[in-house]
Amino acid sequence: MPDGLPTATVILKPRRARPFFGRHPWVLESAVDRVEGTPATGEVVDLLTHDGMFIARGLWNSHSRIRVRLYGFDAAVPLDDTLWQTRLTAAVMLRRSLGLDDPTAACRLVNSEGDNLSGLIVDRYCDYLAVQVTALAVEPRLEFICDCLAELVPTRGVLLRGAERGLAKLEGLHLPDRVLRGQEPGGPVFVKDHALTFGVDLTEGQKTGFYLDQRDNRQAAARYARGRRVLDMFCYSGGFALACGISGGAHSVLAVDSSAKATALARANAELNGATTIEVETADAFEKLDSLAAAGERFGMVVLDPPKFARSRATVEDALRAYHRINRLACGLLEPGGILVTCTCSGSVTREDFLQMLSGVAQRSGRSIQLLEVRGAAPDHPVSVSCLEGEYLTCVIARVA
Ligand code: SAH
Repeated sequence: MPDGLPTATVILKPRRARPFFGRHPWVLESAVDRVEGTPATGEVVDLLTHDGMFIARGLWNSHSRIRVRLYGFDAAVPLDDTLWQTRLTAAVMLRRSLGLDDPTAACRLVNSEGDNLSGLIVDRYCDYLAVQVTALAVEPRLEFICDCLAELVPTRGVLLRGAERGLAKLEGLHLPDRVLRGQEPGGPVFVKDHALTFGVDLTEGQKTGFYLDQRDNRQAAARYARGRRVLDMFCYSGGFALACGISGGAHSVLAVDSSAKATALARANAELNGATTIEVETADAFEKLDSLAAAGERFGMVVLDPPKFARSRATVEDALRAYHRINRLACGLLEPGGILVTCTCSGSVTREDFLQMLSGVAQRSGRSIQLLEVRGAAPDHPVSVSCLEGEYLTCVIARVA
């Protein structure tokens, strides 16, 4: 482990320093004028203005377009073990202060830039931890990170889960899934989520196994569900379906996902919680929305929580067209005064873009849409104001007249 002091200095092009004085943590290749020294990937470097003034300290990655990730803005503080330990402790303390330390529940313990730990995600499911590394420079520090986490929270096993494929490639990461500490759970881990219990597959599940970011949005949606017939489109393991069907007292729920693995999980979770009014079906959302409309079906509430439609800024227009299409179809299925719960987790689609899309849906469908709540991710997914790229999730709850 290096001692956290710089082995090289990275000098910015003229007039490129502002974002970094503003504490943005990603220094792109295009902003770099020259490097003094020959840093190896993962080594500590100092970031300087074009005329030599210290701005920040970070970790070098010659494989990534993000050449330097910044972790410190004080020249006196080395990026050493103590700094990582302090940051991890602060992250765990925040969750404790949010009341998210129930050992039988799940929460995100570390949220990358949102916890000043760019490139590191840690989710806790009871006493198992799922770690995702999205920055190459974090990889050599994984052992130490595991040591710190084990001291902070009880852990029976720590699993490394691969980052999103595109992201891993950009960063030059080749980290196969593996057990970092202890053992694999050997079956689903059962986590409490408000009054419900979900079986979570930590080794094969989507993301790290469960959509923790939607925890509070599922509860918020459930508050509008009483007595309604609910369609939960893109249901994965049944998060919204169970919240609305059981906690929210919906009349009935139809939950749909195109993945047979997902619908098997949703069925198992419905059964686990004793649900009798939740029906689960494996189908493509676009086809199912069309066929429900053709059959003249009506719902009092439709939840749309699709996967990321836009992978980059270049695909935003296509993504917005797809969002428009499913939201328009959903509105067509809603009875007058029905509730639309519609989400986007595409980071490159801004909240404003998404609301504009809904305005287009109102126009084209001739229905007025009233925003009741515009929500983000749960607070164990903090976003740094210096890195708003971390804000990817929008969940709109609206009434469709
Ligand atoms: N609402 C869920 C999370 C949904 S994640 C929760 O709260 O846990 C998005 C889901 O969309 C995934 O389960 C994925 O399998 C599903 N999906 C992706 N493409 C789809 C399609 N074309 N039709 C239906 N489901 C799809």
